[in-house]
Amino acid sequence: MPEFYARQPNHFNLPERINRLGELSYNLWWTWSNNARDLFDRIDNVLWEQVGHNPVLFLRNVPRKRLEAAAQDLNYVDLYDATLAEFDAYVRATDTWFEQSYPQHNGMQIAYFSTEFGLHETLPMYAGGLGVLAGDHLKEASDLGLPLVAMGFIYTQGYFFQHISEDGWQEARRVALRFEDMPVMPMVDADGVPLTVEVHLPGRSLWARVWQVRVGRLPLYLLDSNVESNSDADRDLTARLYSSDLDSRISQEIVLGIGGVRALRKLGYQPNVWHMNEGHSAFLSLEQARELVQAGMPLAEAQQQVRAHNIFTTHTPVPAGNDEFPLWLVDKYFSHYWPDLGLDQQGFMDLAGRAAADQTIFSMPILALRFSAQHNGVSELHGRVARRMWNFLWPELQEEQVKIRHVTNGVHTDTWVSRRLGMLYTKYLGKHWREHLDDPGLWHAVSDIPDDELWRVRRHMKRRMVAFIRERARKHWIHDGIHPVQAIAAGVMLDPYALTIGFARRFATYKRADLVLSDLDRLLRLLNRPNRPVQFIFAGKAHPADEAGKLLIQEVYRAVKKAETGGRLVFLEDYDMNLARYLVQGVDVWLNTPRRPMEASGTSGQKAALNGAVNFSVLDGWWREGYNGENGWVIGPDEDIIDPVEQDAKDAASLYDVLENEIVPLYYQDRLASEPPSAWLAVVKESIRTLAPQFSARRMLKDYVRDMYMPAVENPAGLLES
Ligand SMILES: *Cc1c(COP(=O)(O)O)cnc(C)c1O
Repeated sequence: MPEFYARQPNHFNLPERINRLGELSYNLWWTWSNNARDLFDRIDNVLWEQVGHNPVLFLRNVPRKRLEAAAQDLNYVDLYDATLAEFDAYVRATDTWFEQSYPQHNGMQIAYFSTEFGLHETLPMYAGGLGVLAGDHLKEASDLGLPLVAMGFIYTQGYFFQHISEDGWQEARRVALRFEDMPVMPMVDADGVPLTVEVHLPGRSLWARVWQVRVGRLPLYLLDSNVESNSDADRDLTARLYSSDLDSRISQEIVLGIGGVRALRKLGYQPNVWHMNEGHSAFLSLEQARELVQAGMPLAEAQQQVRAHNIFTTHTPVPAGNDEFPLWLVDKYFSHYWPDLGLDQQGFMDLAGRAAADQTIFSMPILALRFSAQHNGVSELHGRVARRMWNFLWPELQEEQVKIRHVTNGVHTDTWVSRRLGMLYTKYLGKHWREHLDDPGLWHAVSDIPDDELWRVRRHMKRRMVAFIRERARKHWIHDGIHPVQAIAAGVMLDPYALTIGFARRFATYKRADLVLSDLDRLLRLLNRPNRPVQFIFAGKAHPADEAGKLLIQEVYRAVKKAETGGRLVFLEDYDMNLARYLVQGVDVWLNTPRRPMEASGTSGQKAALNGAVNFSVLDGWWREGYNGENGWVIGPDEDIIDPVEQDAKDAASLYDVLENEIVPLYYQDRLASEPPSAWLAVVKESIRTLAPQFSARRMLKDYVRDMYMPAVENPAGLLES
């Protein structure tokens, strides 16, 4: 069998003294190492911003004399040497948490599948929280030294760039990405021939190329159908995330699930833990079963074996997130495949139907549930919602007995924490705080941070965000020919000292971005009170096929443009991980208004908490676990309200009441302008202390290892019995 390797285009022509910058640029470790990013930024910070923090593009374009100057600069080469030493130590470490905690389990191999990975803004292969979570999962798995390999797609057009028309209508702009300018490498054999995998689609074969992204110690493999031997239509199959066309969608999922397993096999992997991040990759179970059946095992036994090693994480109770395919489509795509499993059409539909009697719907989450022994939701409340939602598959069980547990999501600390605040943590939590960041005891020391120091850093973070937003608005005005009111809508009048509330996420209707606008007069009074200004920053994309989501953006944008708001409501175009970093680090309050219980977890509020922004949210998803009465504020009651009209009314009233009576007065409580607001900072500290360790990806990954990955390796038979 040929061996494949990731071919790093070596064409930078760097000065000898700093020539490992090339290698560094191809490992996404730089996305969470301040020093590594400094190595690029310091050579030419204007260019670094211009290329959108893409080190490959940066090195391709940086003038040679700048590189030579850096190579001569003693301070620079000191940083270079120290950073590369740190990088080498990281990549080669043999004393990782996993090695120390599970020395006997070197045979573990986890395969992690996801349709999206949000690792950094230079790789626009994510639509929202699901992808960013997958990216954080990989980074943390690398930090902990887990034996994990990941599989997904590289989209030739990424997600999309968002443009808002003068009347608030979202337009999707698509650009073909140039992979040779991105930190991705093609997988090739010793002769330089690209690795491809073949899957069968109706009347033809489709080939996919395989790319690799290095994420610290781990490889992420990405499939790409843009191969010459495919038809033009097939070459476009992996152009975009989440097509709403059923043929494209099932084809994509065949490429990911079936092609992904085949790619791993060609690369020589024998995973014994398979983790499906959402149901889109569930066809991987069929391919595993097919391998065993082809080797002579009866299907029932094969299914049991596959189940024992498979894990399924469900991420949403919203129907659009749970793919279902009609019979005619399944017939078209799988009639050649089911004989390999020893099945006929009916037997095949039974694998993923709602009930034996229902032969019309093939449900991806049901396939995933039936082919995995371990399943989880992503917060305590979501676990409960998922048990209720899927109880019908196990009618003999009570709701509480349904075997769907939960592992609450968390965020990758070094990706999201602001540099300045990270330095403050180093000062007060100790030099080694990063090694123990999931230890709640460590964070008690947050109360030792003097108010004026914390306030100074928080103010710096907000000013930095406001400066960034204004600069973006200015460029928008200069280059895009917008109407001046659109520049105001884009934030030119933001006040770096006003109480600032952020709302940024996908514009899906259940997230109710318009809840805060439901009583506009009351909102305007709040915004414009003398000496107590409040400003709101909105951002987020709607899926291009989601007309209701686009209408929601338009509603927000029309409110933003009203003169009475005085520029204190803004909508920022093109929400991505870069903008997300500025916002979660810069605002004072992070607002979330999902229609409970639709927000399975949410993670942006966790990023905000880590940075000293305080959460103000419905008791849904992670916040229901995070809120302790003193570390933020809640909207609405801790119960499910069935009638949506009643729910909206109650939640809106609660939202305004808490803002008017608690949040604004606390922030502006009587004090000299030069004094830090100590009562406010007490909430900030309580929020950081309680939430930063608990809602870290470190805690999350350790939960997955202990509760799900280890059992799949240590006691697979036991998983099948219970
Ligand atoms: C964290 C993040 C999200 C998730 O936001 P939620 O409010 O948790 O849904 C979405 N998009 C981007 C760019 C993010 O960084």
